[in-house]
Amino acid sequence: MIVKLIENWFSERYSDNLQLSFRVKDQLLSVKTDFQRIDVFDTYDFGKLLTIDGTVQLTERDEFVYHEMITMVPYYLARKAPESALVIGGGDGGTAGQLIKMGFKKVVNVEIDTQVVEVCKKHFYDLYKSFEDKRVDLRIEDGVKYIKTTKEKFDLVIIDSTDPVGPAEGLFMEDFYRAIKGVLSEDGIVVTQSGSPFYQPFALQKAHGGMEKVFTTVASYTAFIPTYPSGFWSFTMALDYEPKPRSGEIKTGKYFNEDVLEGAFKLPQFVKDLIKE
Ligand code: SAM
Repeated sequence: MIVKLIENWFSERYSDNLQLSFRVKDQLLSVKTDFQRIDVFDTYDFGKLLTIDGTVQLTERDEFVYHEMITMVPYYLARKAPESALVIGGGDGGTAGQLIKMGFKKVVNVEIDTQVVEVCKKHFYDLYKSFEDKRVDLRIEDGVKYIKTTKEKFDLVIIDSTDPVGPAEGLFMEDFYRAIKGVLSEDGIVVTQSGSPFYQPFALQKAHGGMEKVFTTVASYTAFIPTYPSGFWSFTMALDYEPKPRSGEIKTGKYFNEDVLEGAFKLPQFVKDLIKE
C-alpha cells in the first residue's frame, strides 16, 4: 500500500520567481467581500495568519512589532502626549488595542470592510476585543470619505491600511494627506505604513512624497517584521514641527524601546536614495 503524505502550504507571491511559504495545519476561512478576498490559515510556525488578496496582514506571532511601531514611535515623538487617535483601516483591532493599552482616551477606527472585523472577531479575538472597549468607536466607512466629512480633531492619525491598490489606493494620495492635516490638532502627527522599501519602493515614495507636499517635517522609519515581504518594513510620519523623544516618559514594549525609537530612523543608503528621488 502506498501512503501519500499531503502537505498544505500558503504562499505569498512576491514576483514570478519568489514567494514566502507557510506550512499550514488548516485553512480556517476564505471569503470574497465587496472589497477584497480574506483568508485565515492556521500555520505551524506563526499561529493564525490573516491574508487579504493573498498578502500577509498579520500573524499571531509577529503582529506585536507592527502594532507597537505604528503607535509608539509617533506617540513618544509628539510634543505633548497624544490622547485622541483616528485609525484608518486596522479592522483587525490590533492598532486600537495598542492605543488603549497606552492610555488613549478616545480612538475612532474607520474600516471600510465590515467582513474584516467579523473575521477577526471569530479568529483573532485578542486583537478584535479592543472594539468592545467604550473608548473605541468603530465605524464602517471609507477612510477617504470619512476624513472629508468629519468635524472631529485628533492628536494622532494612523493609516493602518492594505497596500496602495484597490480600496487603499486613495490612502496614499497627497489630497488625502491634505485632508488629514485638517483633522489634526495643533501638535498632531500622522503616520502610515509605507511598505517594504525593497519590494514596494513605490509605496514608500508615494507616502513620503505626498506627505512632503503637505507637512514641514516628514520622516520614514523601519522595523523588522519577519512575515512581511523582505522582513524589512517602513512607516512614514509627518508633522509641522521638529519631533523630539519625550525622554523620561518612554515605556518599552515587546519590540519597542528607547534605542529602537532612535535607531529606527537611521536608514540604509538605498532607502535614503528612494526618498530623495
Ligand atoms: N497590518 C496590516 C498590513 O500592513 O499588512 C494592515 C492590516 S489592516 C487588516 C488593513 C485594513 O485596511 C483592511 O482591513 C482594509 O479593509 C482596510 N482598508 C483598505 N482601504 C481602506 C479605506 N479606503 N478606508 C478604510 N479602511 C481601508
